[in-house]
Amino acid sequence: MGRSTVLVVDDDAALAENIAEILATLEVEVTVAPGGRQALAAAARGPIDVALVDVRLPDGPGTALIPGLKEISPLTEVVLITGDATVESAIAAVRGGAYAYLLKPVSPQDLLDTTRRALAQVTLARDRERLIAELARSESTHREVVEAVPALVLALDRQGRIRLWNRRLEEATGFGRGEMLGKPGEELIGHGGVRPLARRSGPDLLVRWERAEVTSVVDVCTYAVGLDVTAEQEMLRRTLRAERLAAVGTLAAGLAHEVRNPLNSALLQLQVLGRRIDRGDRDHASLKPVLGLIEDEIRRLEVLVNDFLSFVHPRPLELQPTALAELCRDVLTFVAPEAGMAGVEVEAELAETIAPVQADPQRLRQVLQNLVRNAVEAMSGGGRLTLRTRSVEGQVEIDVEDTGPGFPDETPIFDAFFTTKPKGTGLGLTIVHRIVSDHGGTLRVRSRPGQTCFTISLPASR
Ligand code: ADP
Ligand code: MG
Repeated sequence: MGRSTVLVVDDDAALAENIAEILATLEVEVTVAPGGRQALAAAARGPIDVALVDVRLPDGPGTALIPGLKEISPLTEVVLITGDATVESAIAAVRGGAYAYLLKPVSPQDLLDTTRRALAQVTLARDRERLIAELARSESTHREVVEAVPALVLALDRQGRIRLWNRRLEEATGFGRGEMLGKPGEELIGHGGVRPLARRSGPDLLVRWERAEVTSVVDVCTYAVGLDVTAEQEMLRRTLRAERLAAVGTLAAGLAHEVRNPLNSALLQLQVLGRRIDRGDRDHASLKPVLGLIEDEIRRLEVLVNDFLSFVHPRPLELQPTALAELCRDVLTFVAPEAGMAGVEVEAELAETIAPVQADPQRLRQVLQNLVRNAVEAMSGGGRLTLRTRSVEGQVEIDVEDTGPGFPDETPIFDAFFTTKPKGTGLGLTIVHRIVSDHGGTLRVRSRPGQTCFTISLPASR
């Protein structure tokens, strides 16, 4: 910014010169005009901060100059210099828009003090004007940004009423700001996240809102920026549905494949039976085994269907304090005949002190039976099955270990329908995995020839 400017308007050239000299100490730029006309001309050439105007000028009273000067530069402050020390003239001067007046003879100190104050006043007014202009500029920039961003923008005041409703919102909803401003708006954005947004016509939009609480601005306390995610969400839904359908398709194909084998062999046996009956074969002893084979296949189908159902349609868990040692002993009793036939020795290493876990005993039994049966089935030539429990760092663990041949690392044992057994369903481990995760637990397995160990970890109940 340049130096401040002072205009001295006095027809007494000597006096004017004198004043200019005194003002020189203020480091201001001083211009002298001998009359009103020249004063206005000087103001027109460049902004004047303070004008020191003699009341009696050759072309009219100094007070008459004030409106003209202010019209040219509105921030100019006028100090009148008068020889007339009446109250009336003072009042008239101030009424006429003067900043102050000085009495002749003017003391240099008064002149300097008054001019300095008038200059300070002008500086203040200039600053204020500049700030106002800046504010207006920045406000209009903000408004433009809010209008131009490709997002829904709204603002709420402290009472949750809508204070801002941008153009995008108008376009997206069909509701103009005229009808929305002042309405309650908290409902629209909630705590943020995806919410439906009503429109004047057509289905609701889905909008993902981000809230920003603002404390610095007096009036507005929440800004919310929303993105229209209607299309995105619709696509996501479609993808999920497609994936689900694909998964159902895979399962159904697997099931159909698994059903076909027992079905075929049952049919085959029925045909054998039919032919023998046609031939008049009445020998019960030879017919009976065929019936047994058919029954086996039908049982296999039953197991398959049951397994499949508990896989695709798991019952909700019914959690209750469950004593693991007891459950393990039950399972071992259950598998004992099968193990005995296969020459498998059964061993239990049960920590009796473990506190009961929160579990669904039925489902947990199903888990252990599946693992134990797999172990026995893996040791057709005999071996040792060990059931072990222990507690470690907030977890309760159960090992089901066998001394069978095991399987290579990359074997997809947990995949639905994966089986290496002629009569397997390949659903056992899938179900085991599902139930253990439903309990908030984990399942790990280590396998090498001669030692395979499945470990279930369940959170210990407090
Ligand atoms: P299924 O028993 O009907 O075959 P599972 O899901 O229970 O189905 O097991 C899948 C496959 O994982 C088995 O066919 C077998 O190849 C393998 N498997 C499971 N447990 C063991 C084990 N203890 N030792 C060796 N292989 C196992
Ligand atoms: Mg199995």
